[in-house]
Amino acid sequence: MTDQLTIPSSLKPADGRFGSGPSKIRPGQLDALIAQGSSVLGTSHRQAPVRDLVGRVRSGLARLFDLPDGYEIVIGMGGTNVFWDAASFGLIRDRGAFGVCGEFSGKFATVARNAPFLGDPLVTEAAPGTSVQLRSADGADVYCWAHNETSTGVVSRVQRVAVPNGDRALMLVDATSAAGAIPVDVSQTDVYYFAPQKVFASDGGLWFAATSPAALERIAELSGARWTPTTLDLQVCVDNSRLNQTYNTPAVATFALMAAQLDWMLASGGLAWAAQRSAASSRALYEWAERTSYTSPFVTDPADRSPVVGTIDFDGVDAAEVAKTLRANGIVDTEPYRKLGRNQLRIGMYPAVDPADVAALTACIDYIVERS
Ligand SMILES: *Cc1c(COP(=O)(O)O)cnc(C)c1O
Repeated sequence: MTDQLTIPSSLKPADGRFGSGPSKIRPGQLDALIAQGSSVLGTSHRQAPVRDLVGRVRSGLARLFDLPDGYEIVIGMGGTNVFWDAASFGLIRDRGAFGVCGEFSGKFATVARNAPFLGDPLVTEAAPGTSVQLRSADGADVYCWAHNETSTGVVSRVQRVAVPNGDRALMLVDATSAAGAIPVDVSQTDVYYFAPQKVFASDGGLWFAATSPAALERIAELSGARWTPTTLDLQVCVDNSRLNQTYNTPAVATFALMAAQLDWMLASGGLAWAAQRSAASSRALYEWAERTSYTSPFVTDPADRSPVVGTIDFDGVDAAEVAKTLRANGIVDTEPYRKLGRNQLRIGMYPAVDPADVAALTACIDYIVERS
């Protein structure tokens, strides 16, 4: 019945997209895309216009993350899932330690478990809704965890695991939904990797990795050491990225949308500014959830709560019905991560989302629940 409800437009957010990925793309990005229509789109990715665009994205990311000396932005095709496959060939020498606190962090461990040429992963699991912290593990040559676990809305610390001297283990941090919206010291990682369809408000299908000199060395060491499909060979990605190219044809529009978002973030004040925006949005959401009788933040420890993906449990109210009514009113993608199986909403609050729209969203939810 509630799906027939019409929310007054005075209450509604100016933009109703709250997806955790793909996420809201700003109109300004689409304008930038159209402006490059005939000069970049539909032209060769081996020539200057597209290579300049790729170069702009690489240098923009280097600026945004204030990359330490020797770190490089490496680009590859296929998004984060494909990066995991590539990393199983080109970054894990024998055995990885994995911090798992949800679907996404768990998936990389599964990739490693299924790779016949790798030793069994050493998995540290945290309960859904809590963060994970890895410790030194015997025989691990990589340590892997997610900065932001998108399925549960949990943020984990990005800090090198203290490993015995001489171990030279690499820190591989999945920053798919964190990079660009949560402060980070990239020097605490060897590979800080992400995809463009979350914080960078672009389309999917590419991955980006801020890569340390030690990780570049590991990639060179493993390239050719075992059979690797060329499309998954990280050394091939490194070599092409240095030329502002990709091994095979990329989605040029994805780069254009991402470049526009990077320009906007850098012109507005960079990572600190972008992080403030998501922090303001999430503050509004969590404060509302705490003071509202029928909601509570799923993540109980405030320190673990994600500033970019808010998970809100509902008590005595069917969250799925609320999401359905929101959707019928043009407010979309508030549904929870399906496999988590909770009575909750999940709200994406990347920098593209206006904090005022998050406040408006909570007013819309109250309006629905008062009338159901
Ligand atoms: C979205 C997401 C992924 C998957 O990204 P794809 O580009 O779709 O492969 C992986 N890890 C995290 C933390 C994510 O949020």
